[in-house]
Formats: sequence, structure tokens, C-alpha cells
Amino acid sequence: MPYFDAQTETLPRAELQALQLQKFQTLLAEVWGKNAFYTRKFQDVGFDPRDLRSLDDLAGLPFTLKRELAQDQSEHHPFGTNLTYPLNRYVRYHQTSGTTGAPLRVVDTDESWNWWARCWGYVLAGAGLCAGDRLFAAFSFGPFIGFWGAVEGARTIGAMMIPGGGRDSLQRLELLRDSGATALLCTPTYALRLLEVARENNFDMNTLSVRATVHAGEPGASIPETKARIEAGWRAKCFDHAGASEVGAHSFECEAQSGGIHITESEFIAEVLDRETLKPVAPGEVGELVITNLGRACFPIIRYRAGDLVRLNVEPCACGRTFARFQGGVLGRADDMTTVRGVNVYPMAIESLIARHPQVLEYRITVTRVREMDEMDIEVELADDADSQILNAIAQAIYNALSFRPTVRVVEHGVLPRFEMKARRFFVKK
Ligand SMILES: [Zn+2]
Repeated sequence: MPYFDAQTETLPRAELQALQLQKFQTLLAEVWGKNAFYTRKFQDVGFDPRDLRSLDDLAGLPFTLKRELAQDQSEHHPFGTNLTYPLNRYVRYHQTSGTTGAPLRVVDTDESWNWWARCWGYVLAGAGLCAGDRLFAAFSFGPFIGFWGAVEGARTIGAMMIPGGGRDSLQRLELLRDSGATALLCTPTYALRLLEVARENNFDMNTLSVRATVHAGEPGASIPETKARIEAGWRAKCFDHAGASEVGAHSFECEAQSGGIHITESEFIAEVLDRETLKPVAPGEVGELVITNLGRACFPIIRYRAGDLVRLNVEPCACGRTFARFQGGVLGRADDMTTVRGVNVYPMAIESLIARHPQVLEYRITVTRVREMDEMDIEVELADDADSQILNAIAQAIYNALSFRPTVRVVEHGVLPRFEMKARRFFVKK
């Protein structure tokens, strides 16, 4: 089983934590006095980074919120003050997708761009990819970081990268075939979309050599039903990965596929906190991820509350890595939760129930309030051979899980939007 960096990936946890502390101290020393954003934040709470002696001291540092970074960038247009070096040191520009507010502008130096490449090296090696593999990124390369990190990461494992932008889905399938690609990189939604396009065009999936799919941008690849559909359709192993433009590529699934994603703890410190008390939850309990990156001094992120809900597992993994795991991947976003008739509803929970039905090609969920009553309306596009009982089955499954019954109705083929990046299928209008 290949590792990207066997030595760090199998360090005893005490040594791993010592490495994290040492890297964090180095980062703070670099940032202190140079990075206006964090120097100001630390001074506001009377924290002097030179006093940090243990990882426990991390709890005394202030959190970083996305809206703070956004506010800072609007006050100090365009890049804000979370910059440790003069702007002429920065060689890469990216911005967040803007699905939750105005895009955040994120810049990297040559050094931190190499760090991105290494972080993706862990992701790709984790999926069993190595020199000789050909990686196809089904992604339109623009300012969103998406698979840019993967492009650089491919070099670190000696694999060939095939950029798949600038073409439609059928052309992408043809390029996958003609290039002999062995791995597909895209969102889980788009992997399913390519299968749909293959069916519509009688494209023979047997002509492909893809043995692994590596996903980002959405949490679907850790939803067992979605993962199973991707693996069956592509006849390949499906791997989840999580990251964000402002944070980095922080976690990946290994070949043991143990039901979770490893946090690259040599490059990140993950805390999992109770959303009310902001104290750590016990391993195995769901809490909010608070993440610190260790290798991006030029645009650091310290104790960032990204709103992701995770469940920490520090048990050893069958792959031999000692990096802890997020059991079940990223479980959802705290901000995405809504209430329907008093019940807390996470979009991922609904997606998981719908994904059990492979005849559902696409769907859209809308929560509204009608005469003081919350209603959930689910529109579905069905495959031609779908059983009409499926609508009832979906409504019943949601009733069983959440104790309210949604309306589920069929819409014509092509009515619902298709997504290449960051699918949006859940709308609250109440
Ligand atoms: Zn593992």
C-alpha cells in the first residue's frame, strides 16, 4: 500500500503531535509582527505566540471566521491583511466558489503552492495512485481552486495529469478513453452525471481504464449510497477528499476505505468542538471542525471555524496510517441545517436517502412554509425504466427517518440543473 510520506504517515501519535507543535511554533514565529491580520487578533486577546508551549495552549487563541476574512478584504481591497509577505512574493491567485456569500480571495507564494502540491500528494497516494497513473481532471479550470492542487499534486507522485476543461461531458468521456486515463478527478455529482451522459450516448464504459475516482468539492463520496453508485458505474474504487481554498487540502481516503477520511495531521491541526460550549467533544461525537494549517505561512488560517460537522476517530487504521480520521467524512455543514416542522434537517441526510435509488437521475429539494406549516417538495428526474413506486418509497423513507412526509413528484428530463462543481439541490424559502 503506497504512502506519500511513509515516515510521517505512520508516526506514533505522541510524535505526530510533537511535530504539529513544532510546525505551529515555527508558523507563529513567522507570522507574528508581519501578518497584520493575525498580529492584531493575537494582540486583541493579549496572546504572545512566544508563550505557546503545548498544543493545549491552542485553545487560548481566538477563532477565525470566514466573515472576518471577507470583512477584512472588503476594508482592505482586494487581498485584505492576512498576508505575511509583500505582495510581490505571491505567485498564485484563487477565490472561493462563493456558494455561501461573496468570494474570498486567496493568494499563495511559490513555497505555499508547493505545500498545496504536497497536500494533494497525500490525497493521490492515499487512493493508491503513483507513477504510471494518468489522472483525468473533469473540471473547467478557472479561479476556483477545485482541482488545481491536484494538477500540482500529480507531479509529486510522478503521475501524468490530463486537464479536462474546455469540453462537454461526452468529449470528456472520449478523452478519458483516448488518453487511457486510470483515475478520474471530479465532484461525486459529476461522476454520476458522466455515467448518465454515457447511457444517453451509448458510450461503452468498458473502453475505459479508470480504476480510481477521487472526489472533492462536495461530501457525496463518503455517503455510502452515492459511493456505491459511483463504484458500480465506473467499476472503480471511489475515494473521498475534503479541503477548501482558504484552508488547503486537509483530508483524504485511504485504500482500506474504512468509512472515514484521514486528516493530514502533519500539515493541519484539527479540533472538533461542541457548537454550544466550544469545548472539545469526545472522540466519536459529532462536533464542528476547527482547523489550523501549518504549511502556508503566507496566508495562514488559525483555528478556522469552517462550519463543517465531523466525527473524530483516533483508532488505528488498517492502512497503517496513524493520522486520525473523520468518520463518515464531512457529515454536513452546520450552516446548512434547517428545521422542518420542528425537526432538524441536514441536506446530506436527505441526499443519502434519495441516493439509495439509482433510478433518480437528478433532484431538487425545496422547503417552504404554507399556511404556517413547513412543507418539503422534492422534484425528481427518473430514468426511463424507473418504477412508479419509487416516489412513494422516497417519501416513506424520509417519513421514517424524520417523521414528516414530503411531496415527491416527477419532472421531465432536463428540467433540473446539472452540476460540474458544488451541486446545489437544497433550497429553503420560508
Ligand atoms: Zn487508512
